Amino acid sequence: MGLTGIQILGKLPKKNCKECGFPTCMAFAMKVAAGQAEITACPYVDPKVVEEIAEATAPPIRTVKLGGGDAIYSLGGETVLFRHERRFENPPLIGTIISSSMSGDEVDRRINLYKKLSWDRVGILLRPDVVYVEGANAPLVKRIREELPWCALVLAGDKGNLEECLKVCGDFKPLLYPAKGETEGFFELAKGKSVPLVISGDSLDEVVSLSQKALDAGLKDLVLDPGSKGVRELFEDLMIIRRSAIKTKFKPLGFPIITFPYRYTDDYLLEVSLASLLIPRYASIIILSQLSAGAVFNLLVERMNIYTDPQKPLVVEEGIYPVNGPDEYSPVTITCNFALTYFLVNGEIEGSRVPTWLLIKDTDGLSVLTAWAAGKFGADTIAEFVKKCGIAEKVKHRKLAIPGLLASIKGELEEELPDWEIIVGPREASGLPAFLRQLQEEIKAKVA
Ligand code: SF4
Repeated sequence: MGLTGIQILGKLPKKNCKECGFPTCMAFAMKVAAGQAEITACPYVDPKVVEEIAEATAPPIRTVKLGGGDAIYSLGGETVLFRHERRFENPPLIGTIISSSMSGDEVDRRINLYKKLSWDRVGILLRPDVVYVEGANAPLVKRIREELPWCALVLAGDKGNLEECLKVCGDFKPLLYPAKGETEGFFELAKGKSVPLVISGDSLDEVVSLSQKALDAGLKDLVLDPGSKGVRELFEDLMIIRRSAIKTKFKPLGFPIITFPYRYTDDYLLEVSLASLLIPRYASIIILSQLSAGAVFNLLVERMNIYTDPQKPLVVEEGIYPVNGPDEYSPVTITCNFALTYFLVNGEIEGSRVPTWLLIKDTDGLSVLTAWAAGKFGADTIAEFVKKCGIAEKVKHRKLAIPGLLASIKGELEEELPDWEIIVGPREASGLPAFLRQLQEEIKAKVA
């Protein structure tokens, strides 16, 4: 059972010193109870109490961390069966195999694909982020670490080789995947080096039994491979694992899951389809037989959609965004900071090739009309932002284009910004290229 905020408050020193980043101990206790703050943020709590609270407030699926430095990944940490109940916490890592048994050319090709496959989507960098190193040895792991430093690593192989690989990894924590039947021999290694370990078996029963042994041996960070024989069994196993962990707090199954969709088919299209089902159905790592741009992009976009907090809109930062290299005679336009609006508007401006200053006003991620209705994108707030953002120093003209949906505030905005001429832009982003070209001509004509 988790602790309530009041129960946690009873264990805090109640200094109200704010060192944890919260205004009061009570506020901090509530955040810890809600899983939105770590008890360790309070430096005055007795270590035994820290352990007790951390244990009591831990999610039923343990959060397992991989990597190091700038490439730290969290797996698991999930608290619900279905996304609509709250949210899914930590997106699955997606990648492919690089094996010591592959030819040098094939290893080069795969490493180069990792480097090539990356996309910027609503301001978020999407790229494959895990490598399953089969038959791992130190030189291969060293090369992958150097060339793909952002990738988490799953190292599969025998104990001797993996010990050497761990030396190469230094502080970077890979996930160890022991050869079949060797799991117990790895308990000491994983515990001694504080790295997570995959528990695999031929059946879920075998996985439960090994996982319990690992827990008894003092291991905390495990990842499960249920070893399912077919697609149906795989999805049944994944459901059983998640339900047992969430509903009955069954510890041996309270860990993230690694999956290999290629085990179930030779058809890449089917493999990728399976992977797409594994994203919402509880995989924490998905290893594909190979990477292809179309497959990986679609999986990463799906992952982003499923693991976006449905209660938090995607936003971009408030500020001035130069598009197409604007100068002091380039048009100025403004919109809200809802990410989808920003990317639509930005995309149309880029496509128009008209150098433009795009002003993004913080509207708490609300779209234009919703923000206006909520009082976050009205004449007063826009005027305040235009005055303080510094656009007046960047341009010599005073023409400001507002979204067509805000035509009704033109007069009010002109009163708030008497130095500026307010021009009503198109209602749809698709109308921006023609509109901006004409506005640019008008500005140039006036200057000439
Ligand atoms: Fe209270 Fe600890 Fe936060 Fe200080 S750091 S306000 S004592 S919870």
